[in-house]
Amino acid sequence: MFVLGLQGSPRKKGNTRFLLSEFLEEAQRLGAKTQMIEVCQKKIEPCMEYVLCEKKGICPIDDDMKHEIYPLLRKADVIVANADLPYVYRKLLPPGRKSHRLDRLKYSCSALVIHWALDKQYPQIGHHSTFLSDDFRAGLDKIFRDKSMGDDPCFYIHAPVRSDPSAAPAGCDTFSVAVGVGHLDGKHPQDWERLTSIARKVVFKKLKRIGITDIEDHIKFEITVPPSEWEESLNISRGSVFGSLAHNIFQMGYFRPHNRDGRYRNLYFTGGSTHPGNGIPMVLLSARLVSERIISEQKREGKKLQ
Ligand SMILES: Cc1cc2nc3c(=O)[nH]c(=O)nc-3n(C[C@H](O)[C@H](O)[C@H](O)COP(=O)(O)OP(=O)(O)OC[C@H]3O[C@@H](n4cnc5c(N)ncnc54)[C@H](O)[C@@H]3O)c2cc1C
Repeated sequence: MFVLGLQGSPRKKGNTRFLLSEFLEEAQRLGAKTQMIEVCQKKIEPCMEYVLCEKKGICPIDDDMKHEIYPLLRKADVIVANADLPYVYRKLLPPGRKSHRLDRLKYSCSALVIHWALDKQYPQIGHHSTFLSDDFRAGLDKIFRDKSMGDDPCFYIHAPVRSDPSAAPAGCDTFSVAVGVGHLDGKHPQDWERLTSIARKVVFKKLKRIGITDIEDHIKFEITVPPSEWEESLNISRGSVFGSLAHNIFQMGYFRPHNRDGRYRNLYFTGGSTHPGNGIPMVLLSARLVSERIISEQKREGKKLQ
């Protein structure tokens, strides 16, 4: 068996690369031929939607995708889709009953994330810090009932420099502020610019209470990621970043979409919307479950790993 790993993270010592290397090493130990491609070092142009690929099976864009990656993908014995499962059914597979069923399911909430590059360090903030609001219940209603955000939202700050100094230049800091918000819902349209502005003000106010009064003067760079951005740039249905499918009783266990497609028998799934569920530990477990399934099914079909 040939196993191709597409390494998409630009961080050479990051978790994504580490996990993929471990996976490929194990596959190699079991007898597979493996190859890892550092996607960030390749010349890959954006899709121009010429649709020639659909009509003639060729991509007219002259880049590394065409000359190096597509030929390797064509060698694949099985495909494991890690992109959001409802998106794969809706956008990458021919329309069918499954995508209609997925429309009716419940989706997890979303997150409004603000990343700050700061030219000053704030040791008052640890690696993980959570700020809760007084009226927690009202905040949850705003997220889950109104698909919006409360006036005094809870938020979490991630300050990676505390344990990884390479996350910012010496004397500088990076904060990622995550605010829980509702997912995209046509029946509850939101003005995300206004909500982002409210969230920023709440964060500054709460930081002032713990003695951080000058942070606005030290923000050198800012990126905000509203729910629409999760959907547009990462293909996460409705911007529901914790899943995307929610964890209610009828969407767990056997009821959750299975990790092998019923029709395309060599198409497998991993990630938050298949078994066992969402969140990093479960997503890693889903990778393990699908690997075990592929190995046992390939063996049953009489295929060796090489
Ligand atoms: C701000 C935030 C904080 C979080 N905190 C935690 C936490 O503390 N603990 C925890 O357990 N979980 C946390 N989560 C949830 C966790 O990140 C998700 O449950 C998990 O990342 C889902 O993994 P996944 O592999 O299903 O999807 P993703 O991590 O979204 O990976 C899917 C990948 O598919 C790629 N993709 C999309 N379309 C295509 C395509 N057409 N072709 C190829 N690739 C494609 C995407 O670029 C993406 O890299 C957090 C999420 C957010 C947003």
